[in-house]
Amino acid sequence: MSDSPLVNQYDYRNCQSLFGYAAAVHQRSGGICQLCGAGSNDLDFDLWRQLTVEHLIGESQGGYLRQISAALAQRFPGMSPTSLTALARRIDAANTITACSFCNSTTSRNRAPVAMTEAIQRAPDGSAEDIYEHVAADLQAILATKRSEARWKLEAVRKAFDSLVVPSLLDARAALGVSSSHGSATRFGVWLLPTARHQKRRISRWQPAIERRCGSEALITSSTWLGRPQVRNSRSGSLAVADPRPTGG
Ligand SMILES: [Zn+2]
Repeated sequence: MSDSPLVNQYDYRNCQSLFGYAAAVHQRSGGICQLCGAGSNDLDFDLWRQLTVEHLIGESQGGYLRQISAALAQRFPGMSPTSLTALARRIDAANTITACSFCNSTTSRNRAPVAMTEAIQRAPDGSAEDIYEHVAADLQAILATKRSEARWKLEAVRKAFDSLVVPSLLDARAALGVSSSHGSATRFGVWLLPTARHQKRRISRWQPAIERRCGSEALITSSTWLGRPQVRNSRSGSLAVADPRPTGG
């Protein structure tokens, strides 16, 4: 049959969270979650495809483009259609951010402290720039709140991941005979296992040396030895102590 999925290539543009409208949002953010920073290390396909678009002020509070345009038209009836469209697009861009699936699902139910219509109503009579600055300041405050909430939740989730999830999933994978040498879980191990702040700093200083020595093979920090992170090369299974020497740059 000609319409067999094996014959016809899937149209990637149907992935609404990644292409079309979303593509511009992810382009602005560099493909980095604006709430937790996920995706800032590598351009990783498995992480990128989990990205979503988050509205700082959602549809229920007038945060969609058509609603922004309507609110501007009502508040500034003298504004030319061209200026109004341009301003609405700018505000829409400031209102839409890239969020990883975790951050999106943990913050999307929150109501913003101010509705978009309200923010626009309160904007001063002035140039389009003045109006934009006023609304953007409200959006920045909402972004800051969402960021701190995501950080707060991630801290607890990370602890659970490190202490409970990693060991049990590694056991499960070993039992299934599945290699655990790929994926963010193993990379997270290097960064996130240490709970003490000072220990975390040390590990991040050593990480380039660890990575350089082991190349692209994934690592799991399993413990510390004399205060130095011990690293398991999950492909070979060998255990090593992280090289504390400076990395020369
Ligand atoms: Zn995130």
